[in-house]
Amino acid sequence: MLKVGILGGGQLGRMLLQAAANYPVETYVLESDPDCPAAHLCHHFTKGDIRNFDDVYAFGKTVDKLTIEIEQVNIDALEKLAAEGVTIVPEPRVLRMIKNKILQKKFYQDHQIPSPDFIVTHSVSELKTHLSFLPAVHKIGEGGYDGKGVQVIADATQIDKGFDAPSVLEKMVDIKKELAVMVAINSKNETAVYPLVEMCFDPALNLLDYQLCPAQVTDTIAQRATEIALQVVKGMGAAGLFAVEMFLDHEDRLFVNETAPRVHNSGHHSIEAIHSSQFDMLWRILLELPLGSTQLISPSIMINLVGTGATGPATYMGIDHVTAHPGLYMHCYGKKSSKPGRKMGHMTLLGGDIVQLQQQAHELKKMLSVSGGSER
Ligand code: ADP
Repeated sequence: MLKVGILGGGQLGRMLLQAAANYPVETYVLESDPDCPAAHLCHHFTKGDIRNFDDVYAFGKTVDKLTIEIEQVNIDALEKLAAEGVTIVPEPRVLRMIKNKILQKKFYQDHQIPSPDFIVTHSVSELKTHLSFLPAVHKIGEGGYDGKGVQVIADATQIDKGFDAPSVLEKMVDIKKELAVMVAINSKNETAVYPLVEMCFDPALNLLDYQLCPAQVTDTIAQRATEIALQVVKGMGAAGLFAVEMFLDHEDRLFVNETAPRVHNSGHHSIEAIHSSQFDMLWRILLELPLGSTQLISPSIMINLVGTGATGPATYMGIDHVTAHPGLYMHCYGKKSSKPGRKMGHMTLLGGDIVQLQQQAHELKKMLSVSGGSER
């Protein structure tokens, strides 16, 4: 049986393993926490640091193929493994480019892909020479995640918030909607594109709050977003499952914000709302099976469940209420400990009418919470 390793054992790895159970594949996970969400669903768990060369290399030598559920992995080890015959999806070269926001922005520029204008900076003091470029968003080149490593610099008084490290200073977009397109591409260069989704963020946590599918935009915008996403993925020229995140501005212009070369938070609804989920699709790519259908089964809304209250052993409150709702699918990530802002689970609600779905989601969100405190 094909041996496939996953670098990272968070909720994305966990959902990937849930889908793996349907296929003839032996699964391996590398992660430092033996109690991580994916640890108990894989065939073989290895405790180790996904950022450490030796750990990743030794782990990679035990499998036929490797994939990731997070970009912050040791790419040098992946390059050596690839040279020694291990198939890596996505290719290390793509990972290296995406992991660095400066290289990623240059890729969009080189491929004439619409993305906000930018300047490369190396220090906070350098920002003072770009005052005419403000308002802008400063993004650290490497190491940012879930909005950490991103700072809005509205005017000269906020320059001190910038990063003293190689970064991009990106023109502020007047965002009307944040959209995402998932694209699957296999080793034969065949592609499958998922319907456009719309994301709404929690402004305080900078985490995805809920996500609608299909996005509420005109067919022309959806078509254009699909074309741009395909241009991005074909430009990378490597097999994998990609999430292309975009901004739609108030003049209905589309800009690529960033691309994730892996299964992604914006695709969770696909487990129930699409014939072949993003997780199922990645296995099809890894196992060299035909790509699945990305046809929508039903409109959906996905609601993230993040920790509130205290930090400590996770207690879910209201699962009995929300699961009574027809068309509601609950996903708990199996994290032992909850802390404010930590992604602890999600719910997907299916239904015919998007407006009604949004109202119901609002109510359901109020019924369910997770906390590390004692409020039962
Ligand atoms: P991360 O990689 O940490 O998720 P992003 O680059 O996606 O960071 O930025 C996080 C959020 O900041 C985006 O979802 C968006 O709301 C906001 N943002 C990022 N870039 C811009 C921009 N150029 N203009 C306006 N808002 C932006």
